[in-house]
Amino acid sequence: MSLRENRDRWLIEYYTKYSKPNLICPKCNIGSLLFNPGWQKVELNSDTKLNDDDAHFYYNPEEVVKYFTGFAICLNDKCQEPVGLIGILNQFAEDIPTDDHNKSYDAYLPKFFFPSLSIIQIGKNCPPEICTQIKKSFSHFFNDGSACANSIRTSLELIMNEQGIKRTTIDKNRRRKDISLHDRIELFGKGNKELKPFLLAAKWIGNAGSHIGEISKEALLDGYELLEHCIDELYEKKHRLEELKKKVKVINRTKKPIEGKKKP
Ligand SMILES: [Zn+2]
Repeated sequence: MSLRENRDRWLIEYYTKYSKPNLICPKCNIGSLLFNPGWQKVELNSDTKLNDDDAHFYYNPEEVVKYFTGFAICLNDKCQEPVGLIGILNQFAEDIPTDDHNKSYDAYLPKFFFPSLSIIQIGKNCPPEICTQIKKSFSHFFNDGSACANSIRTSLELIMNEQGIKRTTIDKNRRRKDISLHDRIELFGKGNKELKPFLLAAKWIGNAGSHIGEISKEALLDGYELLEHCIDELYEKKHRLEELKKKVKVINRTKKPIEGKKKP
């Protein structure tokens, strides 16, 4: 499933009884992650703990801050990967008017998952170095948008390296200098006009990681959608077409479906 089709699940900030995203196991990419009863361990943060007896928290449950950690388990029987997560647990007041000021529900704000959740699916033909870098970027998504954007940018540099785009040039003073990522994408664009604007747009999102201020999850997801498209065009599409062409050849030659093959 492409990111475009499941984008909303990454925009849910707090996991509550009212909003539970369907998280997919990063190991098998098939099973959903299940939070079994008692999956979490919770501790009050020190400010809350020191004032725990204070009636203030009774009347302001949303100010109670706890930390949580625990494991969700992949539902796929053949996998059962445990995925660890850690974050902040808040209490949100119920919207329904009530005399009980303490009527609240748990709201989990995840900060880290390990192994990191796969925000985009990376095909098997993506070069390992690029694949590793993209996976590294996933680990920053929930906690540090700027680091995530920077990591997306580094992925683009690696794509340019893999595509054989030169990294340095000689200036008029005969000194060797680095070529900016922007100019490298321009060089790449001479041979691939269609993909150039997608790479440049992803680069602008990556650049935003170096600026002061937090980058939004929406912007990061745009960056991932662009990256997903570029990876597919450069590394997956060719293989997919080759495999499909082989099938087309056999079907058109025999004028019937390919039978007798073991279904996967
Ligand atoms: Zn799994």
